[in-house]
Amino acid sequence: MNFISTKGTSISSIEEALMSGTSEDGGLYMPESIPKINIEELMTIDNYQEFSYQLLSHFFKDSSLEDDLKDIINQAFNFPVVSKEYNEGEVQYSVLELFHGPTAAFKDFGARFLASTMSELVKYKNESSLTTILVATSGDTGGAVASAFNNKTDFKVVILFPKGRVSPRQKHQLTCWGDNVVSIEVDGEFDDCQRLVKEAFNNQQLSKQHNLCSANSINIGRLLPQSTYYAWTALNRFKAHEDSSSFIIPTGNLGNAFACFMAKEMGFPIHQIVFATNANKTIPDFIATGKWEPRPTLPTLASAMDVGNPSNMERFFNQYSDEKELLENLKAYVVEDAQINEEIFSVFEKNNIAICPHTATAFNAFKNLPSSALNQSHWVLVSTAHPAKFENIVEPIIGTKIEIPENLKTILNLETSFHTIGKDLESLIPYLEH
Ligand SMILES: *Cc1c(COP(=O)(O)O)cnc(C)c1O
Repeated sequence: MNFISTKGTSISSIEEALMSGTSEDGGLYMPESIPKINIEELMTIDNYQEFSYQLLSHFFKDSSLEDDLKDIINQAFNFPVVSKEYNEGEVQYSVLELFHGPTAAFKDFGARFLASTMSELVKYKNESSLTTILVATSGDTGGAVASAFNNKTDFKVVILFPKGRVSPRQKHQLTCWGDNVVSIEVDGEFDDCQRLVKEAFNNQQLSKQHNLCSANSINIGRLLPQSTYYAWTALNRFKAHEDSSSFIIPTGNLGNAFACFMAKEMGFPIHQIVFATNANKTIPDFIATGKWEPRPTLPTLASAMDVGNPSNMERFFNQYSDEKELLENLKAYVVEDAQINEEIFSVFEKNNIAICPHTATAFNAFKNLPSSALNQSHWVLVSTAHPAKFENIVEPIIGTKIEIPENLKTILNLETSFHTIGKDLESLIPYLEH
């Protein structure tokens, strides 16, 4: 299958799309068409890895990775997707827990899949030099990417994170890898980290010399694997109850929600997709006014969703030639910090479950759905991170300690180290040296 840039001019193979992240014309890669999948054939599969293989193989047909895909998936998805059903009187819903991977957030799916595919691809390269993965992170991405590439000897990973803007446990997760991972605290904002990464990539000499490569969330290699858990969840629900599922997705850069959209387009029984955002409400405002107005990022309790200019919106624009139709199909709710706070408290009181601040936006949006929407399909609230990662926010609200899951415990027992630099490219360059 070919991959085409949203700007329309570049056509690439999946190998190129994975390794370069964005296309040369500055657009984002999309599959030339989203395949319609014969769902009947997948009905009998009861193993998530095998299911994911069957689904993703459509995108990898005739590529050099086709034969390795099964191994790539088994290596990458070595933790479970968990869906739990809840009943509150008349109201029934499920919570899709995507935080059972090594860094306890859904980003493990995309980061691990990308690391495994890139690792296969560099094997076929004739050069012996290391490939440097350079990422800016506001918290979860950096940890997931570092963990995924940590034992891959063909790579060096350089992570930039903003000083004083990540939770203590997130910081631990960004700085505990050693070996081929260099963690750098930037004396600035997330936007400074992102700018530094851009400047490094735009510097031809630097980029070539260090084989710079990106692993950020606009890489199609992170979105494709994320579509599998939506397809899997919706199909399992359909098998048991013959109804369709609607998903409420805590949304920042819109990658996770776009992955759900792809699963729907493939033909899986998905009814509505609702975006829950925090106070960074560029998307909800667009739906209300029809004007796309990116803006500076506001810091909120759900910090991994602090995005003022959601990059993956470009993929939605690309999918709908008619903007009116696009606007009719998008649904979003804004959840301010005060409501996040309240929701964490009330969900704990009612159901005795602790939820992270990101997941709280989905719960709050669910509570505010019109009652007519409730009966149209089964609702699934997407839980994007384990609450123990954000204990500094959640524990004071619920007034009790959150038990730390094994995956996080392992990481928290590792020693940490990091460097601190200013927010200029000159300060970064020495750390790119191999
Ligand atoms: C990254 C992240 C999000 C936002 O996901 P996008 O794909 O950027 O929309 C939500 N919750 C958590 C915990 C995250 O780490």
